[in-house]
Amino acid sequence: MARLSLARLQELNDVLDDRTPDELLCWAEEIFGSRLAIISAMQKAGSVVSHMAARLKLKVPVVFVDTGVNFQETLDTRDKIAAAYGLTVHTLKPAKTMEEQTAELGVLYVSVEGQKQCCHLRKVEPLLAVKGHYDCFIGSLRRADGGRRGSCPIIAVDPEMNAVRLNPLANMTDEQMDAYIKEHKVIVNPLHEQGFSTIGCNRCTTPVLPDEPKRAGRWRHLGPWAQYCGINPTDMDDSTSVAIDLPQDMVDRLLGQKTDFMI
Ligand code: SF4
Repeated sequence: MARLSLARLQELNDVLDDRTPDELLCWAEEIFGSRLAIISAMQKAGSVVSHMAARLKLKVPVVFVDTGVNFQETLDTRDKIAAAYGLTVHTLKPAKTMEEQTAELGVLYVSVEGQKQCCHLRKVEPLLAVKGHYDCFIGSLRRADGGRRGSCPIIAVDPEMNAVRLNPLANMTDEQMDAYIKEHKVIVNPLHEQGFSTIGCNRCTTPVLPDEPKRAGRWRHLGPWAQYCGINPTDMDDSTSVAIDLPQDMVDRLLGQKTDFMI
């Protein structure tokens, strides 16, 4: 195994920054093969990534965390995408239902500390069930989302999952994404049409007004809107010292140290 830190990915990030989403997705499949998965919360950008993967005929599954308190529209979007795009969707669930969790710990999401605990129990821990199955997760973070995502890297490391995170849409603007959705008639979560700029659990997500920040509808009841659930590590930690362990040959190929193809 070889150690791979975010700092070691900086040069690669500079190169990948000029690549199109299609090029990045094909490159990722070439590097990671069957150790690659899309992670989607069934929001607009996740739908776009899923559509791109299907259009490029990539054999990549989609991982979806069902917190047990998702909107029905989100679950319906998952099912429609799986059927229409021929993608395998793996649904991961928390160990306890929300009712069981509430009976044991109370209503966590009404306080800042409780929200962190609840998101960890219902989002981060379920994802850990597939730790070791994949070496790269394709996400859908975009710099146009602003906040902490305003400078999200194309490629990062996820120490908790011991995997790489790839964001092929990092440079995609809102206008480009809407144009892609229109051109390809991408299946999107209908809640976006109802004023939800981002979509999470039904307990903690509201629509936003036109002049509000995109994430104003997330944990609105807790006050400041610069909050994230922790399922995307680059939302939480920009330290360049974080690192993961991957097979040496994969690290060599990733960093171009033993290149037998061009990107
Ligand atoms: S978004 Fe709210 S309900 Fe969902 S896991 Fe986080 S705190 Fe819990």
